[in-house]
Amino acid sequence: MSGSEESGAGGSQTLGELGEAGVLKDIFATLTTTDSVLVGPGDDTALLAVSGPVLATTDAMVRGRDWLDEWSSAHDVGVKVVMQNLADLAAMGGVGTGLLVTLIAPGALPARWARDLTAGIAEISAATGVPVIGGDLSSSDGAVAVSVTALGEVPGGRAVLRSGAEPGQEVAVSGSLGRSAAGLEVLRRSGTDGSPSGRHTGLGAGPGAGPAAGWVAYHRRPDPDLSQGPAAAAAGATAMLDVSDGLVRDGGRIATASTVRIDLDEAAIGALAEEFVSELGSAPALDCVLTGGEEHSLLATFPVGTVPPGWTVVGHTAEAGTAGPGVWWRGERTTGGGWDHFGG
Ligand SMILES: [Mg+2]
Repeated sequence: MSGSEESGAGGSQTLGELGEAGVLKDIFATLTTTDSVLVGPGDDTALLAVSGPVLATTDAMVRGRDWLDEWSSAHDVGVKVVMQNLADLAAMGGVGTGLLVTLIAPGALPARWARDLTAGIAEISAATGVPVIGGDLSSSDGAVAVSVTALGEVPGGRAVLRSGAEPGQEVAVSGSLGRSAAGLEVLRRSGTDGSPSGRHTGLGAGPGAGPAAGWVAYHRRPDPDLSQGPAAAAAGATAMLDVSDGLVRDGGRIATASTVRIDLDEAAIGALAEEFVSELGSAPALDCVLTGGEEHSLLATFPVGTVPPGWTVVGHTAEAGTAGPGVWWRGERTTGGGWDHFGG
């Protein structure tokens, strides 16, 4: 750690030296709230005013599994773990109303890391208007894990499930596909040896230049347009999810839940891959779009002619037939890649 990094508030203190009360005091001081939060952090539970059905989802990130310190700062992790949860709410047509955050870390972890994590969480919380309403701290023998639980509601009153797609509908995505995977690939190619080109150096200054730096930034801090979730619900989306494990694998989840076949459009996928071709090559570029995870763009099905503005049609649904539900690419059933925590 450089001298300048030591000089901020907290310096080289560890979590153990700061103590739980000190850590919590630091964290709560940075957070904003909303009128719906009747009781915020500090009591036994939070008390939240709600007006109807409640969405609830949770997602955790573990150091060494879900991020590498060489590639992602604590701030990045804070932004990403919250965004993953908010994308899950958006994927139901919902918006967030509150976040519960749990940090599990060894006492030897620099307090600065926890503060930077909190800064990332506070930043995305303020940007999206979703308050942190509580959380927990626990210690470990070395593992660092951050877990976020997000609560939300459905503004339009109709939650969009994965199971509502019907044959003869359009399959569309809001925003990008493959940027996070392309960013990860750029990081991989830059090496893991901690060399300057492979280290986190801030937005726009990462490995590569121009578009590649943008993909790396997106991998570290995904930035899907969450407003498209409620917009899709209002437009009549019949099934929806966010792309966390790749177009093929997540599309397969809609296909299975809805008992339909999804045929991907080669021209549309090729157009989306174009962005990555010059930097990564044709096959990897296509792979990013088809199987790249952690994008958190929304994937939904719509009756023909009702796809909202700004969405890109990437395929269509058909009767599952005797082959059963699944995703077809270039005339063949495909299962794609994506990360499986227990299957590898
Ligand atoms: Mg999801």
